[in-house]
Amino acid sequence: MQHKIAILGSTGSIGTQTLDVISHFPDRFKASVLAAGSNVGLLIEQALKHRPALAIIADETKYTQLRDALSPFGIETAAGTTAMSEAMERDDFDTVVTATVGYSGLLPTIRAIRTGKQIALANKETLVVAGELVNRLLTDSSSRVIPVDSEHSAIYQCLVGENNDTVNKLIITASGGPFRTFGHEAIASVTAQQALKHPRWHMGAKITIDSATMLNKAFEIIEARWLFDINPDKIEAVVHPQSIIHSMVEFIDGAVKAQLGIPDMRLPIRYALGDASRLPSSERPLSLSDYAELSFEKPDPEKFPCLTLAPYALNKGGNAACIINAANEVAVKAFLDGRISFPGIYDTITKALENIHFIARPSLDDYVSTHYETIAFTSRLTGTAPTLNQSQTHNTEH
Ligand code: NDP
Ligand code: MG
Repeated sequence: MQHKIAILGSTGSIGTQTLDVISHFPDRFKASVLAAGSNVGLLIEQALKHRPALAIIADETKYTQLRDALSPFGIETAAGTTAMSEAMERDDFDTVVTATVGYSGLLPTIRAIRTGKQIALANKETLVVAGELVNRLLTDSSSRVIPVDSEHSAIYQCLVGENNDTVNKLIITASGGPFRTFGHEAIASVTAQQALKHPRWHMGAKITIDSATMLNKAFEIIEARWLFDINPDKIEAVVHPQSIIHSMVEFIDGAVKAQLGIPDMRLPIRYALGDASRLPSSERPLSLSDYAELSFEKPDPEKFPCLTLAPYALNKGGNAACIINAANEVAVKAFLDGRISFPGIYDTITKALENIHFIARPSLDDYVSTHYETIAFTSRLTGTAPTLNQSQTHNTEH
């Protein structure tokens, strides 16, 4: 059977790699919906190649260009930030790859759960912002979430055939990012250009900065907590600079299972699109003799204080992680624009946590208003103009 796929964020790093996987398996996969933020040129190119039923551009100013290019080919077009959520109601696809950045993934994912779609989840921020709510919605839905994030895909693969009651610990590996070997003082003055050079992975700008602050690892701990419904005390991170072991699971008998491979996101993408099955790859396989050593280190929360935000958010619960995510979205932009320093990212997040109203049992509307309240507060704090993701007033479509 040919799986019909919707890709939210088709023009990004995960989106383009997903289309690459789809191109390799034309009998198995078909892209039915493509959605992008503002890169209309690439979206048109992708749509002309893959011939989806629908192409969506979030940036409404680019709509005419999209429609004029695609309507002669019978491809439907839509624009605006709610169009992605509305598209989740369609019945011409069964799996959605959520590969937009940040909070923008939340409402379409919730709509996809409500309509019973299978979800290949790259957008970890969805679970960071509202993991407890997402899990509650999943219990009443036929949706299933298969992770695309490489660490979570690794853990998912290690858990196949195992009884979850026998899990002692999830061990999430981290490359350590570009500043792993830097001292405190050197880290305080790093530039955006330095932070954008990730040693192992080529990813979008936001996750690359999150990797440099190691907030990405804190987010992945929160993601794992909800994805695998596991007690936070049983999740730990270990720095593994070669990024060959993608993560591990320790069991009660002392056995540790790991998933290894060369760093290539197309493996977890193939696994998720294939419904947790193994599809052949034409890439060069891992050759362990290429690696003189596989090494491991403890992460250093004094050097990377963002690591402390995972235990903080998981202990505190409520809307705490939603505040952290929104503050970080603004802080990353301010850092990239040169308006705050690298340590200023953590400082912006802690100021937001001190100032934004804590809600112990948030509803979806509470998450939405927390997000925009935090965006407004941190934008004022850092002198940042809102982006496409951040410019809406309270948008309660869901
Ligand atoms: P990119 O920045 O490369 O791509 C983001 C995509 O989302 C682009 O297609 C962009 O469109 C689109 N987009 C951005 N904002 C909006 C919006 N408001 N509405 C609709 N579309 C939008 O990011 P990545 O591919 O690196 O990351 C995507 C997600 O996957 C993130 O959540 C990240 O944490 C996660 N992830 C990524 C990994 C990677 O290796 N890249 C690994 C693990 C997880 P456009 O460019 O047209 O503006
Ligand atoms: Mg990851």
